[in-house]
Amino acid sequence: MAAPVPKNERRRLSALQDYNVLDTLPEQDYDDIASLASAICDSPIALISLVDEERQWFKSKVGLDASQTPREHAFCAHAVCTPEEVFVVEDATEDERFRDNPLVVGDPSIRFYAGAPLVTTEGDAVGTICVIDNEPRKLTKEQEKSLHRLSRMVIAHLEMRRNLVSMERVVLEQDNYVANLEEHWKKVEESHANLRVASVTDPLTMLMNRRGLENRLAQEFSAANRNMTPLAMLVIDIDYFKAFNDDFGHQAGDTALVKVGELIRDSIREFDAAARYGGEEFVVVLPSTEASGAAVLAERVRRSIQNAVWSERPVTVSIGTATMEPNMSSGESLFKAADAALYEAKEAGRNCVRHAENRHHVRQAQTG
Ligand code: GH3
Ligand code: MG
Ligand code: MG
Repeated sequence: MAAPVPKNERRRLSALQDYNVLDTLPEQDYDDIASLASAICDSPIALISLVDEERQWFKSKVGLDASQTPREHAFCAHAVCTPEEVFVVEDATEDERFRDNPLVVGDPSIRFYAGAPLVTTEGDAVGTICVIDNEPRKLTKEQEKSLHRLSRMVIAHLEMRRNLVSMERVVLEQDNYVANLEEHWKKVEESHANLRVASVTDPLTMLMNRRGLENRLAQEFSAANRNMTPLAMLVIDIDYFKAFNDDFGHQAGDTALVKVGELIRDSIREFDAAARYGGEEFVVVLPSTEASGAAVLAERVRRSIQNAVWSERPVTVSIGTATMEPNMSSGESLFKAADAALYEAKEAGRNCVRHAENRHHVRQAQTG
């Protein structure tokens, strides 16, 4: 006769699932408790049985080979219906619920059964610790109490396992959370870095923009002052560029601007800083560079643009150069000097270089 289904069956099964113990390997702790039950109750068979939906499965077994049996044959399936008490069958052959049970009629010929339910803190019995004998018999009161105590020890172990599993899950979740956070931060930092670069970059030529130039010039100006090293600058302006645009269109004009930018970059040294600070106006800051060095670089830039192959018509630039002088208070003064020299280059007929410093010397020479 199969046991009735307990009223709390759903909650009971879900508690059993939560322990995560079904079909796990044998463990010393549980085997020790089963052995104690067998010794205390003086019975050849002792089991820690968990009553699953369709079967009972043995977490530990003394004196029995089977690892599980169908639930409908399980004495323990009856025991879990009464969580408050130790379930005892003194002689199964005398009990109509068990008389025809295959475990009574056949192997292992159960006569005597006593099972203490394994009761969760919520009051659900997930299985039993039970002792079995092939002879009809009884338990002493003391043996029954001991079996009950052992059932509490089993539950304590199951609870510990569950807490460990959920702790491991929390730790894993935390690790994942931290990993995600780090990933997120990396992206934020990357996009900040991209923004920082974009805010100082001219998107057409990918040279520095006006803001980038201002920052860099201020840095180089104070470094030159601090280290008492020279500082030079080129201001470069495309000749007759309005006409170029008018004749060939704005798109062709943009392409020419990109090419001029590339030619400038290719003509200067790695530590020089090139910028497009206006429409068709470029600046190169030349650290640690005297007037003579600036003149050489300016001429190299001018010539590389003049000699490049242009699809519409030749493009040329005029260049003004200047070097830092003791009376200059900021990079702005250096720029003004170079820009004035550029104006002279335009006046002189374009496609040429003029030097602010030379102008100064020439005037001195003329007046002197
Ligand atoms: P100059 O030799 O005296 O420098 O003559 P210019 O025509 O180059 O001088 P101006 O300053 O009068 O004209 C600059 C022209 O550059 C105006 C505009 O048509 C062109 N320009 C400025 N910015 C851009 C740009 O971003 N794209 C294009 N395609 N053209 C631009
Ligand atoms: Mg201009
Ligand atoms: Mg121009």
